Amino acid sequence: MTIAERISEIKNQLPENVTLIAVSKTKPAEMIKEAYFGGQRHFGENKVQEMTDKYAVLPRDIHWHLIGHLQTNKVKYIAPFVSLIHSIDSLKLLAEINKQAKKSNRIINCLLQFHIAQEETKFGLSETEAKELLMDASIPTLQNINIVGVMGMASFTKNKDQIRSEFGHLRRIFDQLKNDHFKHKNDFKEISMGMSGDYLLAIEEGSTMVRVGSSIFGGR
Ligand SMILES: *Cc1c(COP(=O)(O)O)cnc(C)c1O
Repeated sequence: MTIAERISEIKNQLPENVTLIAVSKTKPAEMIKEAYFGGQRHFGENKVQEMTDKYAVLPRDIHWHLIGHLQTNKVKYIAPFVSLIHSIDSLKLLAEINKQAKKSNRIINCLLQFHIAQEETKFGLSETEAKELLMDASIPTLQNINIVGVMGMASFTKNKDQIRSEFGHLRRIFDQLKNDHFKHKNDFKEISMGMSGDYLLAIEEGSTMVRVGSSIFGGR
């Protein structure tokens, strides 16, 4: 199967409100072009350097999603063009994104990343940390960022019940935040969860964005 065929096969399984982000990390620009000419517009990268390199040589109407951990000193490189940053895990990072977005005369959409997996190594906020962040007095002054939802990664396990319960947990975090902090904000609506191995489960639990890499581009 071609890349475009794999993408349309996945898209056929997604409800209309779910965005497919083709995760192209480690794959060459040529493969992204193949997907692009098949109609795919949303691509995910986890490294700033790789994303900026690809941005430079690929069509300008691509929506670039930063899905990996982001260091504050690298925000400036992606601020002029990034479409959505999925990996907000501190107020400091949010403040830097706001600063760099302002310089580019943009408002950058962001997701709060939550730690829902059992593994220690995965980045992300706890619910308590997120509440603290959102209650901070500086938040209303950050006018060049827009928090539009949440992101999370399930544990690396074959146990479907566990994965489902972790996705369910993220969904409940989303509902809670919506109710407590974003009640009247219509664009707080995204739940970024689900990868190649678990995107169908994620959709059942309410995902609005799935991040699929290896099922489209092959193993890494
Ligand atoms: C690599 C990656 C994905 C895609 O993983 P696949 O298993 O290849 O689909 C999704 N989300 C994040 C955060 C990633 O780093």
